[in-house]
Amino acid sequence: ETCSIILSPGAGRCRLSKVGAGRRPPPARVRVAVRLRPFVDGTAGPSDPPCVRGMDSCSLEIANWRNHQETLKYQFDAFYGERSTQQDIYAGSVQPILRHLLEGQNASVLAYGPTGAGKTHTMLGSPEQPGVIPRALMDLLQLTREEGAEGRPWALSVTMSYLEIYQEKVLDLLDPASGDLVIREDCRGNILIPGLTQKPITSFADFERHFLPASRNRTVGATRLNQRSSRSHAVLLVKVDQRERLAPFRQREGKLYLIDLAGSEDNRRTGNKGLRLKESGAINTSLFVLGKVVDALNQGLPRVPYRDSKLTRLLQDSLGGSAHSILIANIAPERCFYLDTVSALNFAARSKEVINRPFTNESLQLHVLAPVKLSQKELLGPSEVKRARAPEEEEIGSPEPTAAPASASQKLSPLQKLSSMDPAMLERLLNLDRLLGSQGSQGAPLLSTPRRERMVLMKTVEEKDLEIERLKMKQKELEAKVLAQEVADPKEKENCSPTMLRPLSHRTVTVAKPLKKAVVMPLQLIQEQAASPNTEIHILKNKGRKRKLESPDASEPEVRAEDCWELQISPELLAHGRQKILDLLNEGSARDLRSLQRIGPKKAQLIVGWRELHGPFSQVEDLELVEGITGKQMESFLKANILGLAAGQRCGPS
Ligand code: ADP
Ligand code: MG
Repeated sequence: ETCSIILSPGAGRCRLSKVGAGRRPPPARVRVAVRLRPFVDGTAGPSDPPCVRGMDSCSLEIANWRNHQETLKYQFDAFYGERSTQQDIYAGSVQPILRHLLEGQNASVLAYGPTGAGKTHTMLGSPEQPGVIPRALMDLLQLTREEGAEGRPWALSVTMSYLEIYQEKVLDLLDPASGDLVIREDCRGNILIPGLTQKPITSFADFERHFLPASRNRTVGATRLNQRSSRSHAVLLVKVDQRERLAPFRQREGKLYLIDLAGSEDNRRTGNKGLRLKESGAINTSLFVLGKVVDALNQGLPRVPYRDSKLTRLLQDSLGGSAHSILIANIAPERCFYLDTVSALNFAARSKEVINRPFTNESLQLHVLAPVKLSQKELLGPSEVKRARAPEEEEIGSPEPTAAPASASQKLSPLQKLSSMDPAMLERLLNLDRLLGSQGSQGAPLLSTPRRERMVLMKTVEEKDLEIERLKMKQKELEAKVLAQEVADPKEKENCSPTMLRPLSHRTVTVAKPLKKAVVMPLQLIQEQAASPNTEIHILKNKGRKRKLESPDASEPEVRAEDCWELQISPELLAHGRQKILDLLNEGSARDLRSLQRIGPKKAQLIVGWRELHGPFSQVEDLELVEGITGKQMESFLKANILGLAAGQRCGPS
């Protein structure tokens, strides 16, 4: 506020008109606040304890799914706990930036977070608990009335626009008939949307008259169009125009964006295809780019990728620059939100540190006792074993051991809970971490911790992740083989119970066997075996020969005929091939990718592009999601590459 701004209709670029300003100030940081909503609906009680809680007015902690000895502490510009009121958030984080509008600067308030975490409550609220939007409008109108009163040097007027960004289309909510609108930039760097409705408002009643029906339109659309409202960004734009009453009749304009963002949950996991896939892809793109923009601004990077999405393009003159922005990340305490909460926090966090203490037991009891599918437990067995085996060497001794009630809660850790819950969830967490790692953001897990051991631990954890993935692959392959075997071998089928349940139990046993073995084996043995190339090489070489040679594993019953070889050994090989392909897809350059069968320069480029936008592939089949690659092509690609890669890997130097 050292400089006054004149003749600056484009407040975002105040350098042209700053008085007494030397160099252009560095772009403003985006401030980040987190709001934890309370449990809703009264469904929660001791049976559904929170998995996240506040520590002080700027930080919170959340159970660390990777290590139950630790919690993760996140630091923000502000943290609002479950008892915070609408007024707290408004007065603490929004009201202070409004006055800048009258100085001709821009501002934006964005509510981020998964669907159901309280974005709309925060922005809009209810008649009993009005949120940021009505409060800001009230204050702004009041302020402009006072500042623009007769006899004051400036005349002020306020207009509003209301739009929606849905599937990267800009739609005017005050004129639903108009189609996709174009975002333009004028010569001064002001962003504008020609044709967007602008309604003058002089009172709050004016505002409601335009806003409420438009909001309702949006809600109707929501039920008709598959929860569209949680997939689109609702953008309210309030413009404050000022004209000087006397010469030199300067003008200035301040823009305020109040945005209820699309849900940040990962829609890609719902197995959706077609429209919904495209839809969620587009939403993720916008949010993904928003994350990059915020990151770039807050790290002072030279390039801010505003142009990479409609949302950020629209906000170009209102995020960074001389604009004042606040991102309110909304999170929910329920356990079912855990993943989305972690993801939202990582999106928003400026810093994160690991604290050596378990998330205390009140949140841990219940779910350990919940029935867990055997196969899932088995699946996670080895890594749990490893975790349990080596905590002394792997875990970092706490420098200032906290007096947390570790002994009681250790057994009932959130880690166990989380991991026993759903392998798909675990996979999402792994992907999330990998994504963060690949973005190289400052929020990269654990990297901010000073100790070197931390890195060692991370490496170990990564190895464990790979192990889990490998086991999962193995399970998939085994399942497929068993099913195929059953179809091909009706005699065997007769031996078994003909009920529908049978395939499942059979599968579980088959799958559990190797894993059980892994559980009781010493750690080194597991790793050696996994890494040993011998088993599969022998298979390749000896296919069709006597069984003796093929497997060093004496515990396998040698009762099956030759066709069983594949069943027992090949799946690993295949799984390995898949893993290799996946690694290449996720880490390979376009050139590396071209070394694969059936991938030319164009497809390689498409794959790299997809990865840039969506993060790593979680399975090779995701290749099908890449625009320009059909399911059929994906399959033939798999066939063409899987064995070659697997064999290549296994025959290589060990
Ligand atoms: P979102 O817009 O992120 O999908 P909502 O704002 O619709 O989430 O919130 C989901 C539910 O939780 C709503 O019923 C809302 O009233 C309630 N809720 C959200 N935040 C709070 C809060 N801070 N206090 C009380 N209820 C809340
Ligand atoms: Mg909402």
